[in-house]
Amino acid sequence: MSNPAPSDAHFLELAIEQARIGWEEGGVPIGAALVHNGEVLAVGRNRRVQMNSAIRHGETDCIEQAGRLPASVYRNSVLYTTLSPCYMCAGTARLYEIPRIVVGENRSFEVSEGWLRSAGLQVDVVDDAECVALMERMLAERPSVWLEDIGEEA
Ligand SMILES: [Zn+2]
Repeated sequence: MSNPAPSDAHFLELAIEQARIGWEEGGVPIGAALVHNGEVLAVGRNRRVQMNSAIRHGETDCIEQAGRLPASVYRNSVLYTTLSPCYMCAGTARLYEIPRIVVGENRSFEVSEGWLRSAGLQVDVVDDAECVALMERMLAERPSVWLEDIGEEA
């Protein structure tokens, strides 16, 4: 657990807002924000259910919303996400060499942090109580949708 700077708390809150919207839409409550030099390039949320998509996780939706960007922009950006990234999302961050990921929580799910760190990415886990609560409700009320999210079956 690390103490986030005030700006980290602000940008993580944008991701949490997205997660709340996703839950209200009937989806998976995971949100993300992509921030370049303190400027929000995009926010996004898991929209697999909403868009009948196989790949719209919180982070990938956010990065897709930002559109095509020069490599140098990714390399000076921070990705905020409410939940520790899966390999698909971690792979996207690693591909574009996004140097830092701020993770809301990793109690509910964690597979990629060691892999990201081994590639030189900085991963800071905030352990935010609301992020934990969002996923606890997800796991309790929509467990099969969550398992589908991570490529598993009930
Ligand atoms: Zn993912």
